[in-house]
Formats: sequence, structure tokens, C-alpha cells
Amino acid sequence: MRIAGQVSLDDIPNICPLLSRAVNPQYGEKGTRVVDVAGVRFGGEQAVVIGGPCAVESHAQTVGLARAVKRAGADMLRGGAYKPRTSPHDFQGSGLEGLCILSVAREETGLPIVTEVMDPRMVGEVARVADMLQIGSRNMHNYSLLAEVGRVGKPILLKRGMSASLCEWLGAAEYIAKQGNLNIVLCERGIRGFPSGEYSRYVLDLNVIPAAKMLTFLPIVVDPSHATGVSAMVEPASRAALEMGSHGLLIEVADYTFGEPKCDGLQAIDAATLARIVEFARARREEPEVRSQKTVAAAANLPRHRREVRSQESEVSSLPT
Ligand code: PEP
Ligand code: MN
Repeated sequence: MRIAGQVSLDDIPNICPLLSRAVNPQYGEKGTRVVDVAGVRFGGEQAVVIGGPCAVESHAQTVGLARAVKRAGADMLRGGAYKPRTSPHDFQGSGLEGLCILSVAREETGLPIVTEVMDPRMVGEVARVADMLQIGSRNMHNYSLLAEVGRVGKPILLKRGMSASLCEWLGAAEYIAKQGNLNIVLCERGIRGFPSGEYSRYVLDLNVIPAAKMLTFLPIVVDPSHATGVSAMVEPASRAALEMGSHGLLIEVADYTFGEPKCDGLQAIDAATLARIVEFARARREEPEVRSQKTVAAAANLPRHRREVRSQESEVSSLPT
């Protein structure tokens, strides 16, 4: 039976001729388009780690967190000046003042900024400050906003709609590309499934990473903060995402000495945890030869009995399974 409007992954070359790997053989079967954001290279040799508050709340909070994110070794600063909140009565972000605070935070730390734009009328204003524009999950289907951000020429972080299929997500990216902007980074941030809300905020779909990479040459990163909604899950989810081939991470960080965050405090990690994630990311994305050399060097420094245990472990893991 054929149904109107139904598409499958086989239709990707038709839906996304600009972004489909099959239609653009210059990227080969595995090549990634490197998206450069003020010198930070998404899809390059190293995973990119972005950290920062959910929302820009004050100068002290954002600049303080930016410094902590920089000390932790991360590459970029995140922070929403405009927040898509479930209730219109909740804190909506600090708007233009928030954008000014973000530019001060960049001056203080040198970290490039990614921030969300929700309204096509605000694209120019946000693009004047941001190094990268974020399209949030709720706006992934907002085609006029997608076309508008495609026209300003800044790199785009395109979050996956919380109920979007891979076809719909790549179709949204194609709307941006159609305006002549192929500097798009996909961001998986969790999807709705039956357990969402029971023990985690959404269901982190790690399987989509290799699937998206098969279909498009765009880099893909993961937001473990909104995907889990639980700060204790963020570090293991980050590691898992990198193991599945994510080109980077977008993580919410908080410091309660600046007061309780106005939104998403329960999923924010502290700077020390971010530093551990950065360390893991640096080791994980290095060239495989560098990694194996480091492993050999580390093994040489282990006390003798640990080396023996290690060698037994490697024998076991090399047994046929
Ligand atoms: C965010 O990253 O600030 C955010 C609101 O995320 P999402 O759009 O994925 O809910
Ligand atoms: Mn948030």
C-alpha cells in the first residue's frame, strides 16, 4: 500500500540532494564536511566539546561559567538568551541583554558562542553576536526560520525535533542548505519514547549517529543534557555518544554559587565533571595510531602485577567468540 506523504531513507537523495552522501560523491563513503566555527572544527580530528549554562541569566553567572568552561578545556560556550519554555509565564531568557553578556563572555575567554534563535525576525540580531546559531528542537520544523538562518551565512547547530524521524531532520537541514549554507552541524538531543519522563527526560538515540553518517556528510554532535535530564547520566551518556561516533557534545553546566539556575538545574553538571568529559573526548577522538601508542606507553608505566593482569585480559579478549 502506498500512503501519501510517507517517506523512507531510500528517498533521502530526493529529499536532500544537497546534503545526501549518495548525490555528493566528493565526500566518499565516510568523509565528513568540516564545519569551522571561529577556528573550532566540527568533524575534524578531535571531538568538539561545548559547555555552558542553559540560559544566560546574569553577567556574573555567564562570565563566571564561561571561565570555568574554558578552564575545563572545552572548545565553545553555549547559553540561551532566548529560551523556548513550556509555559509562557516562565523565565523566557534575558533577550538582547543576554546577547551582550554572551559577547562579553567571549571577549573574556576567547570561546566562540552558540546560542539559540527562535524567531525569524531576530535572526540578524542574534547572528551579529553568535558564532553559531542554534535551532532548537521545537523549531526544527519551522521552515521559514530554517530558510532565514540559511541566508545569514553563519554556521548552524540544528537540533533534532523531539519527535522527528531521521528523514524529517535531514529534510530540515536541506532547507538551510537550499539557501546556500552547508555549514550545518546536526545535534541529537533525545526523542520521545514510552519511557521518556519516567527515568530520563527523553530517549537518547545513539543509533542515529551512524545512521545519519551513512546518509549525509554533515558532522553530528550529541546533547546528553536535554536527552537525559539527569546530571548523573550526563557523563556516561557523553562517553557513549563519543563511542558511537559523535563529533562532539553540547553540555549544560551550572555553578550554584551564582544561585540556583532558573531552568534545567537538575541536568547541569559541574565544571570538574566537564573537565573529565573533555579529557575523555580528547583521548577518544585522536587518531587510532596515537591512541594505541598512548595505551602502550600507559601500559609500560603500570606496576608489574597490573601489567600481568592486563596481558591476561588481552588474551581473553582475543579468544574467538
Ligand atoms: C537548549 O539547548 O537550550 C534547548 C532548549 O534544547 P532543546 O531545543 O534540545 O530542547
Ligand atoms: Mn536547557
